[in-house]
Amino acid sequence: MSGNKFSGSGHSSSTRLLWRNARLATLRADLQGLGIIEKGAVVCDGGRILFAGPEGELPSWLIEAAEITDLEGRWVTPGLVDCHTHIVYGGNRAREFEMRLVGATYEEIARAGGGIVSSVKATNVLSVEGLVEAALPRLDTLISEGVTTIEVKSGYGLNIDAELKMLRAARALEKLRPVRVVTSYLGAHATPIEYTGRNQDYISDVVLPGLERARAEGLVDAVDGFCEGIAFSVDEIRRVFDKARSLGIPVKLHAEQLSNLGGAKLAASYGALSADHLEYLDEDGARAMAAAGTVAVLLPGAFYAINEKQKPPVQALRQAGAHIAIATDSNPGTSPLTSLLLTMNMSATLFRLTVEECIAGATREGARALGLLDETGTIEAGKSADLAIWNIESPAELVYRIGFNPLHAHIFKGQRIDR
Ligand SMILES: [Zn+2]
Repeated sequence: MSGNKFSGSGHSSSTRLLWRNARLATLRADLQGLGIIEKGAVVCDGGRILFAGPEGELPSWLIEAAEITDLEGRWVTPGLVDCHTHIVYGGNRAREFEMRLVGATYEEIARAGGGIVSSVKATNVLSVEGLVEAALPRLDTLISEGVTTIEVKSGYGLNIDAELKMLRAARALEKLRPVRVVTSYLGAHATPIEYTGRNQDYISDVVLPGLERARAEGLVDAVDGFCEGIAFSVDEIRRVFDKARSLGIPVKLHAEQLSNLGGAKLAASYGALSADHLEYLDEDGARAMAAAGTVAVLLPGAFYAINEKQKPPVQALRQAGAHIAIATDSNPGTSPLTSLLLTMNMSATLFRLTVEECIAGATREGARALGLLDETGTIEAGKSADLAIWNIESPAELVYRIGFNPLHAHIFKGQRIDR
């Protein structure tokens, strides 16, 4: 994994770089489908794309003084974006998984110390450095597939100091690896044992003041919550969103995963960046999301791991004109998944997303779900030079294969990262 080290032998970002003889899947919204440019070229300088288009249209002044790489006809997509993860945590839940397979009930697992409580415990005993150390192998696995942007949530601390610690660890990841990290404050993930039956008190005592502190320390890019019967109600989430709004922080929500409480509609009413999971979303909710520009983030890893039967209403989302992103939801309990390529395959096989939707969902739409569409997610002039270069004959191969990584190399902010 040494190839992932940011300080490796990559080019200085001030060098002008030109990649030619490439097949570009630009994902540009103004082009059809994947925005394909055969025989394309990309030029970057200072980490930003100066030109992306047909090689024949390259201005000669751009070619001069550029370090040229012939990609020999390889496909190039935007660097991948994993817009929903919980990769910062301590311990794992393999024991619980094992118990469930031989018929243990939810209660037996809880009595044996399993469930989210075990992740909270295992997270709280670690320092920031310990959390970083635990998260790095997961992050490296994602990066090895060409991921250049990742969202990381708190939510296994459930007290102010531990939530902040998780966010500090998330921020630290960005300094150690060639990746853009976006943080979400998820204090309203679960109710800690000491607040059982007192969600409103937990929100007053921990979630809201914790958010203020996270904001003051510059640790939070968005505010998230888990709106579900086993977590927080619409009214409780509204309090969290009101606080976020008063602090000028965008919101997003885990909504309609196990039942339909109307969380997606609530999120849309706050102009949320995204509502995520959505297995139980109805048409009304889909329309509200589309109207608000709230991205639907589908998480097939969680659907698969908990053996869910209800599928998200993909057709209703399409009909409403909602944007659809996909993500790993990498977490220790319900989606111990660290492959965005496998997530693409699962999105197709389990949710029947098209190849185009899967690739857009892990690039452009993922960036949109993070409010980063001006920065990354497509290959076009002005954006960060975040590119993934693939050894494939067609883009469909990225979605079709199961457990195979065809990444040739990738570029983050103009720096080449070899596998
Ligand atoms: Zn999640």
